[in-house]
Amino acid sequence: MTLAEVIGTLETAYPPATAESWDAVGLVCGDPALEVRKVLFAVDPVAVVAEEAIAWGADLIVTHHPLYLRGTTSVAATTPKGRLVHTLIKHDIALYTAHTNADIANPGVSDALARAVGLTGDLVPLSPLPDDPWRGLGRIGTLPSPVTLGDFAERAAEGLPKTSWGIRVAGDLSRPVSRVAVSGGAGDSLLGTARAAGADVFLTADLRHHPASEFMEAGGPALIDAAHWATEWPWLDSAASILASSGVNVETRVSATVTDAWTRGY
Ligand SMILES: [Zn+2]
Repeated sequence: MTLAEVIGTLETAYPPATAESWDAVGLVCGDPALEVRKVLFAVDPVAVVAEEAIAWGADLIVTHHPLYLRGTTSVAATTPKGRLVHTLIKHDIALYTAHTNADIANPGVSDALARAVGLTGDLVPLSPLPDDPWRGLGRIGTLPSPVTLGDFAERAAEGLPKTSWGIRVAGDLSRPVSRVAVSGGAGDSLLGTARAAGADVFLTADLRHHPASEFMEAGGPALIDAAHWATEWPWLDSAASILASSGVNVETRVSATVTDAWTRGY
């Protein structure tokens, strides 16, 4: 398969035009005519992921996060990002990003997160696009049967990949939980939306003290704050399976390397 053919399949599932205007998605480096046999999926375009790609013999890395979100005027190897570009080009490895276009897709990043924490039934976007009720940010669904917040938190921690500090919970652990809202990555912009949607608990990442404290003072619902990397990691498998199910003849691998910013909790 050529890189162009692999990208064509990814872009059917995650059209670049559906990314936010501030986002930077698509091909970062690589020749569309490159022959692709092995594709590595990872959350972050960082040095340790490039090393994994080299060791495995990957021809393409697909990441969720963009390398250059804010643009650049140089790819000199004098910065970590420039060095990464040099490393990839030297080893003939392409880099491709699907970010907010994967967030809002159906299925997208938050569908995979919802499945990972135990939601098995129908899911709808927490914040649907005005022109498409089936696509948008976040997801909300109902657990097969109600559980306590404490039990749900344990189930969520088990379903997500392990990170240095796991998950944090705000709320009464004995409260029943049935409606669950999730949003992969930093989801504090959806706090009010989760409440208005009738969620019993909202699971996301990167929640800060003041918004979380004020939210709980106003009656909740309960909050679960997970590691940013862990909330987006479940999507990698779903993206990899898109290539497999579309008949693209490549070998895929999901990177299990934890690239969350926080490396140790005490
Ligand atoms: Zn993210």
